[in-house]
Amino acid sequence: MEFSKAIERAVADGFDRQTEWLGRLASFDSTRGNEGPCQDWLANEFAARGWTVDKYAIDDVGIAGLPGYSPVVDADYAKATQVVATHDVADPVGKSLILQGHIDVVPPGAPELWSQPPFEPRVVDGWMHGRGTADMKAGVSAMVFALDALSGLGFVPGARVHVETVSEEECTGNGALSTLARGYRADAALIPESMGHKLIRAELGSVWFRLRILGRPGHVLAGASAGAHAILAAMAYIEALKRLTAEINGEARSHPYFGSVADPVKFNPGKIRGGDWLGSVPSWCELECRLSVLPGHSLPEVRNRVTAAVRACAEQLQAAMPEVSWIGFQADGHVFAPGTAAEALLADIHQSVMGSPLEPICLTATSDTRIYDLYYGIPTLCYGGIARGMHAPDEAVDLASLRKTTEIIALFVARWCGLKSKS
Ligand code: ZN
Repeated sequence: MEFSKAIERAVADGFDRQTEWLGRLASFDSTRGNEGPCQDWLANEFAARGWTVDKYAIDDVGIAGLPGYSPVVDADYAKATQVVATHDVADPVGKSLILQGHIDVVPPGAPELWSQPPFEPRVVDGWMHGRGTADMKAGVSAMVFALDALSGLGFVPGARVHVETVSEEECTGNGALSTLARGYRADAALIPESMGHKLIRAELGSVWFRLRILGRPGHVLAGASAGAHAILAAMAYIEALKRLTAEINGEARSHPYFGSVADPVKFNPGKIRGGDWLGSVPSWCELECRLSVLPGHSLPEVRNRVTAAVRACAEQLQAAMPEVSWIGFQADGHVFAPGTAAEALLADIHQSVMGSPLEPICLTATSDTRIYDLYYGIPTLCYGGIARGMHAPDEAVDLASLRKTTEIIALFVARWCGLKSKS
């Protein structure tokens, strides 16, 4: 039987088990700070496959100040568990590979908007629903079951493979960075985010920041101008930052990669809290925001523009300049150079399995991919199956596309790393 047919059969034969495994993985509430039990379970799964498991906390590795490092607040890195499982061979016959997936998930949001409990995944009409199914525990299952399919056919990869499950992808990228700081390298990396069977060609970076806005408090009877009222002032800062975003989106129209994307730069005021008492003018408000960064725009430049927009607004309000702090992602935008050997191989396999050419996309979000490619020079591919509702209450992954992704990864490993018989 032709090898690709054998792979297709092996993946199909294991797919019920893979679906069940994904359901188990997606049942962990692995939001930030809670990744431990999920990583413990994965470490056991990897050890049971005969891989060498390195389970460590980010605090075990020095990453502060490395290129790609993002500052961290409100997180305990002594408990931020990362897992790197390694398959190694004595006499490699091919090139080494990192397969990476993040297991941190974003919070579920308003529970009333879910048609099911977010961490009780369900399959409906061929889609598995649940927080983290698409982003990106399905991809993690594809990495693992691709290797299982090869194993079922009597093979192991013919070169070193690291299977990495990291956290912090959704807020800093420091989990991925820690694997590199710990010394793990390979000739290529593949991150199977649910990209709709497209390959990331370029991605935006992002900056996260917090404004601490102070008012001039008093009794509500006295009334208050926007500058004196910390919550009303927050609304003015939001408008000022929306104007800055529109200005940057104007510049984006001539960008070589994002010029054809309408308004690629997104500003998200994502969290707000303030005030203490309904009879008092609020004395404080904290506003937390995210702003995208175009490839080619430097992080210091973007931060300076944010600070300048806030300062101009404060002057207009005749209010004190809010304290601006940088509280998570300080991620560069990045373009993944076309023409690598890894991309050529993926394109060839995608064409033969999917029956159409591999299309690139310019992603208006941020992934872990930049950490490997931009800061460590490891050619990195971000490619995976079909999702809907990422970061939304209807998050789901298309299981048929997951099966295809698993096949494609198995074929990629077979041809990139070569194969050896299981001893
Ligand atoms: Zn993701």
